[in-house]
Amino acid sequence: MRIVWLQLLLLSVLDAKTYIEISDNTVADAGTILVKLRYDYEADRPDRSYVAFEGKRYPLYPNLFDETGGDYALIPVCYGIRPHKTKLVVVEITGKTKRYMTFPVTIRSAHYRKERLRVDPSRAKISEKNRRRIRREAKEAKAIYTRSTPELYIDAPLSPPLQSKITSPFGTKRLFNGILKSFHSGTDFRAATGTPIRAVASGRVVLAKNRFFAGNSVIIDHGEGIYTGYYHLSRFLVKKGDFVHEGEVIALAGATGRVTGPHLHFSVHVNGTLVDPLCFIDTFNKLFF
Ligand SMILES: [Zn+2]
Repeated sequence: MRIVWLQLLLLSVLDAKTYIEISDNTVADAGTILVKLRYDYEADRPDRSYVAFEGKRYPLYPNLFDETGGDYALIPVCYGIRPHKTKLVVVEITGKTKRYMTFPVTIRSAHYRKERLRVDPSRAKISEKNRRRIRREAKEAKAIYTRSTPELYIDAPLSPPLQSKITSPFGTKRLFNGILKSFHSGTDFRAATGTPIRAVASGRVVLAKNRFFAGNSVIIDHGEGIYTGYYHLSRFLVKKGDFVHEGEVIALAGATGRVTGPHLHFSVHVNGTLVDPLCFIDTFNKLFF
C-alpha cells in the first residue's frame, strides 16, 4: 500500500488550486484508472471539469468519501486494446478559461489466458431465432450500461460477491476450433445451486430476467455509471425496479444459461465499458484510503 501511495504522490500535480492524483500511470487492458481531484478552497472548484482519455470524455463526480471535498472520475480501459503510450487530460473550465492538465499513461497487455475449445460445428450452431434473441439482449444490455444515474449509491468499500474459489478468471480468450470467438466477460466463483448471492453494494435492480447466454441474470445500477451483474442464477429474490442494500440476498446461484455447471459469473461495467471486476474493486476502494 505504501508503494502505491508513493507512486500516487509522484504523479500528483501541485498546482496553485488543484491537486490531482491518478491511481496508476500504467494500466492493463480492461483495467480502471481512478482520478482524484482536491481543491485548496471550495472557491477553487472550477465551473465545469471532465477527464479526456482515448477520445472519450468522462464526468467528474463529488468525492463523498473525501472530508476535504474534491471530485473523482473512473476511467475504464477497453479489453483487448493494443498496448501503447497515451495521455489522460483533466480539463477545468472556469468562465472563459480552460485549463488542461496532462498525465502520461501506458496501456499494457494483461496477457489474458487462451482457452482452446473443440466443438462439433453442428452443436455450436445457434438457430436464427436464438441469434435474434442474442442481438436483442445485447442491445438491451448496451442501453443499460451507457446510462448513468447521477447519484452514487455505494457508501462503503467493495468486496467480491463470494469468498469461494475463482473457477475461471476474467478475460480468458476463447478459441472455438482455433478461431477467437469471445472472451470471458466476468469472474466465475464456485457456488453450488442454491448458494445465496448478495449485492456487493447498494443500488437499483435494472434487470432481472432470463437471457440466452447468461441465464437468469440480475444487473444492479450503483449510480455514476457503475453496474454489477450476477449470472446463471437458479432463483430471483428481487425484481426490476427494486432498491437493494449492500449485502442483501438478491438471488440463489444456479446453472441457467450456457454453462456446464453451477457457479456465479460476476461482471462490472463502468461508464459504458466492461472491466476486470476484481481490478475494479481494488481501484474503486482507493477512493476510501
Ligand atoms: Zn463466467
